[in-house]
Amino acid sequence: MKSVLVGVGQAGGKLTTAIESFDEQMGFGAIRATCAINTASADLRGLSTETVLIGQNRVNAHGVGGDNELGAAVMDQDIEQVMTTLSSRIDTGTEAIIVVAGLGGGTGSGGAPVLCRRLNRVYDVPVYALGVLPGSNEGALCQNNAARSLKTLLGEADATLVVDNDAWKAAGESLSDGYAAINKNIARRVSLLLAAGESTQGVAESVVDSSEIINTLRGGGLAALGYASSPAAEAADENINVVTSTTRNAVLAGLSLPGATTAEAALFVVAGEAGRISRKGVEKARRWVETETGTMQVRGGDFPIKSDRLASLVLLGGVDRSERVERLFARAEQAAEERATIERERASEAKKNFENDNLDGLF
Ligand code: GDP
Repeated sequence: MKSVLVGVGQAGGKLTTAIESFDEQMGFGAIRATCAINTASADLRGLSTETVLIGQNRVNAHGVGGDNELGAAVMDQDIEQVMTTLSSRIDTGTEAIIVVAGLGGGTGSGGAPVLCRRLNRVYDVPVYALGVLPGSNEGALCQNNAARSLKTLLGEADATLVVDNDAWKAAGESLSDGYAAINKNIARRVSLLLAAGESTQGVAESVVDSSEIINTLRGGGLAALGYASSPAAEAADENINVVTSTTRNAVLAGLSLPGATTAEAALFVVAGEAGRISRKGVEKARRWVETETGTMQVRGGDFPIKSDRLASLVLLGGVDRSERVERLFARAEQAAEERATIERERASEAKKNFENDNLDGLF
């Protein structure tokens, strides 16, 4: 699927360039163009893509410091400048636009929904969001920002592919140490998905095309992407179990939003050398995906790629809120209630102070 990727904020910019380099390294050619937008000039430096600095008159190129309302406001204010830059990159060959952001910060968290809304108004192609949830050990502000951003994205993007920063974290690894590994995981999955319709080597028995990705995501809401790979025998007949167990692993252990396995639709792609892909294994795995996700709408196909391994890539569209997303929303609701209580108490305290005052009111 020929896509234009737009990264907003620090994580958004890093991920966008990571996905583009993976696509280039593999020779896929599915990424038509990329762009990174930020309020902090330091975070744009060193990114190998076109960049746009927004909100200069409000934050003087120093970032919004985790304030996602400010992030949304500056994106809104400078939206024309952003749209002008993007208009020279989005052309008639573009099949989808993907806005990429970390949802726990300020610029991406606030700016991505504003940008999705505007892109959706201007372009006919689907506008998807790729949103990264903060790790569960990040602070309350991050969790709150992510919940509000995700809620807003659900109304503005045609679908939101969610990646939980906890998803592939190795035990004992700090979040920042893990970023490089997480970004690689995301880049591999997203590049493969977008490239699935852009077959480069060999002839696929049943090629996936862009419309199948679009149809899988048509119901909107949350989406998740699972991936796993295993060494494969040369003969397809010997790989029945390889295909089935790799597919189970992709969904049960390799999903970008762990636990979100009930879906409205799924796309299931087996990547590997055509001669190694067991048709029987693919059929069995597809039936397993149907049962596991609770949908009969499972599209699928092969993605020929030169490798001695077989990989399964599973895109789930319209997934149920996972436990993690439920917790995220519950925490944010609780924080909002606490804020409201504090404000009510402050207001009543202020009123009391005036009641004690000897000054007469006007009426
Ligand atoms: P912004 O620049 O204000 O949009 O904020 P950041 O993008 O720096 O951070 C937002 C959130 O994104 C953080 O709370 C982290 O959860 C996450 N994050 C930051 N950098 C990375 C990264 O390189 N990879 C991943 N996967 N997540 C990141």
